[in-house]
Amino acid sequence: MQASQWLGLDERHLTAVDDRHFLHPETKQAWLSMVQAAADDGLQLDLVSSYRSFARQQLIWDGKFSGQRPVLDDQNRIIELNKLSDWQKIQAIMRFSALPGTSRHHWGSDLDLFSKPLQGNTPLQLVASEYQAGGPQWPLYQWLIANAHRFDFFFPYAKDLGGVACEPWHLSHLPVANKVEQVRKPERIIAAIQQANVLGQECIQENFDTLYHRFISPISR
Ligand SMILES: [Zn+2]
Repeated sequence: MQASQWLGLDERHLTAVDDRHFLHPETKQAWLSMVQAAADDGLQLDLVSSYRSFARQQLIWDGKFSGQRPVLDDQNRIIELNKLSDWQKIQAIMRFSALPGTSRHHWGSDLDLFSKPLQGNTPLQLVASEYQAGGPQWPLYQWLIANAHRFDFFFPYAKDLGGVACEPWHLSHLPVANKVEQVRKPERIIAAIQQANVLGQECIQENFDTLYHRFISPISR
């Protein structure tokens, strides 16, 4: 896969799943097989998000960095960003949102999912408690723990490793993700961030090594 593709700047590695979602063709195949297997067990699987471009990730990032979108802490409370330094802001945002160019959603291998019928009329917030015991998505999570590996999916954010918070809704398709991890280069990410004028880019650049080893590279395997 070319750098422009894993950076979310080029969509030639993708294929449509439906009118809103795109995935890598190998991942789409695995996803459709898993949807069928779940349906056979009486469980509906629904995509929340799949491929996301650099531009879309930058909208989220810049919105949070500039204070136009809320940034939450671990207790889901809104953080007062104007009291923070750029370095503190960047770390607070990266707990829940990837830096543009580093999202696994750029790759076409990763997706966020839920089960619409389990949710009923309650709006989905994508918080861990919804997927834990007592939450509406718990039966989905249980099914995924038992079955996702049969389709080569795993949970890269199953555990809080101190960087990105736990995301029990996020699955990654190992064969495609592995290919990206073998070719991903930090210097290409830094160049793309500069090129796109991502907010906070000077501080990001100065501290990129720390960010890379805390938020970008560590995943649960
Ligand atoms: Zn995700």
